Amino acid sequence: MKRTNKTYKKYGYVEHTYSCVYCGELADTLDHVPPVAISANLDLEMKHMVVPACRECNSTLHDKFLLRLDDRAEHLLNRYKTKYKKHDSTVAWDEDEIEELSGHLKTYIRGCQHEYQRFRDRIDHLRQRIRLSEHDLEPLD
Ligand SMILES: [Zn+2]
Repeated sequence: MKRTNKTYKKYGYVEHTYSCVYCGELADTLDHVPPVAISANLDLEMKHMVVPACRECNSTLHDKFLLRLDDRAEHLLNRYKTKYKKHDSTVAWDEDEIEELSGHLKTYIRGCQHEYQRFRDRIDHLRQRIRLSEHDLEPLD
């Protein structure tokens, strides 16, 4: 956590801005928009926006040439929907069925359900992020 604090301080963030701008998870990295690798490769002088991001969103976006936050969020949404589809099957277990299970299987199913809920929260956050951007584009009247 010390390294994270230093990174945030370097960019002028205060300690309470720790939510990933895309998925709402704890942010432990900074995402450069557009990606530094892209502007360096193109030898372009670009202004970068730096936003807090969790490690998974940041590494999933990597050097994708997506210049707007909502485009980046949409890319993540599509990737995560596929990536987390495997957790869908564990939701069908109800509480009584889980109670009947023993030891490791019970722990495994509960862990999967916890992951599934976390995934649902992140998907909702990404959708909200995209909706907010769409709202910005609507005419004000
Ligand atoms: Zn994230």
